[in-house]
Amino acid sequence: MSKSTKESGVNENQSKPVCSKCNSTENVISIVYGYPGDELMKSAREGHVKLGGCCVSPDSKRNWCKKCSDYV
Ligand SMILES: [Zn+2]
Repeated sequence: MSKSTKESGVNENQSKPVCSKCNSTENVISIVYGYPGDELMKSAREGHVKLGGCCVSPDSKRNWCKKCSDYV
């Protein structure tokens, strides 16, 4: 019975954006730009994504913290 513990460098939370203010991952949702379809509208209403509108600027933020009500 030998177990390999050499798994350093693997971070399962890497794809989850973290809020720099409250350090939470569960309250951070993606901001989706462009005209939303029915499914996206539904997701936004349920709080899974935030709609950023159709105007995208180069420094537009990608994520939104629901807890802080701010861009992260
Ligand atoms: Zn936050």
